[in-house]
Amino acid sequence: MPRPLPMLDAQGRSITYLRISVTDRCNFRCLYCMPEHGLEWLPKSEILSYEEIAEIVRQLAPTGIRRLRLTGGEPTIRPELETLIRYLSQICGIEDVALSTNGVKLVTKSADYRAAGLDRVNMSADSLRAERIAKIARRDLGFDPIAALTAAEQAGLDPIKVNVVVMRGINDDEVEDFARLTLEHPWHVRFIELMPVGDMAELEWKHVVPSDEVLSRAAAALGGLSESGDAPLGNGPAKYYRAAGAPGSIGVITPMTHTYCGSCNRVRLTADGRLRTCLFGTHEVNFRDPLRRGESVVPVFTAALAAKPPEHHLLQMDAGGLRALSQVGG
Ligand code: SAM
Repeated sequence: MPRPLPMLDAQGRSITYLRISVTDRCNFRCLYCMPEHGLEWLPKSEILSYEEIAEIVRQLAPTGIRRLRLTGGEPTIRPELETLIRYLSQICGIEDVALSTNGVKLVTKSADYRAAGLDRVNMSADSLRAERIAKIARRDLGFDPIAALTAAEQAGLDPIKVNVVVMRGINDDEVEDFARLTLEHPWHVRFIELMPVGDMAELEWKHVVPSDEVLSRAAAALGGLSESGDAPLGNGPAKYYRAAGAPGSIGVITPMTHTYCGSCNRVRLTADGRLRTCLFGTHEVNFRDPLRRGESVVPVFTAALAAKPPEHHLLQMDAGGLRALSQVGG
């Protein structure tokens, strides 16, 4: 069957990538993401079932959606996530199924996810030190990021990306340690600029470390970095660099110092079945109701793409009313 041409939004951007939040819940309460208390969880009846998510993807694949990412909240705390991975990886036209996770379950679940058809993983890790991990996550689950990444690698997930949110005075002294991981492992360490939006335990602009600073510190630690010609497979805005002879690479994601809305290829499905066309916009359409009435979501999707905003206003500190990235899957 010929590959369907992707749909274009009003700006002429090809929309090929769907990020699917499978739950609003998380086993961490990261300083920069979720409030420690007071979040109300969605009732189960409002959350899309795995069958419903798969049906949405089945309907959207012929419109050119080819790549999927499961996210949350923390997607791995939803029971039997491998069932959903299996459904999605078998849908005609889907070329890539990825997972964003905090990594807590990777030691025990990587092999199951891989067997079900997961292609690759992005793991968040803001520290390599046990005590600090618990402090940033505000939960002590005895999490060992190196063991988690090693398990993912051994299971054959590839590429493996490590997402580090850099916060001045909180974990920025670990930039060099994270950068050095790329000398020994084929992992792609991506430093993310903190977005001081929403209800975030008093994190502010002063905690943002611009990526240029992070890159120059990483380059000093590794004896130089050059732009990496062979960026790891992905859909996103990171730029990649590599130390001479290193198996891994270093990337930066720069929401606070650069925008990349012009090349945006993505839309997001929330756990309760709303399609958001911009992470930091207010524009949202309801997929769940038509789906539960047995109707196609494609007309709603087409209309939503026509209304996808040209850009967000995060650089002006306007996050479109977003309280926490966990609400819409980061
Ligand atoms: N629980 C999964 C995880 O840990 O990757 C998926 C959801 S999490 C909301 C997705 C990503 O958003 C993580 O890499 C997290 O670090 C990032 N994130 C959340 N809030 C952020 C913020 N305020 N600034 C920068 N990155 C943020």
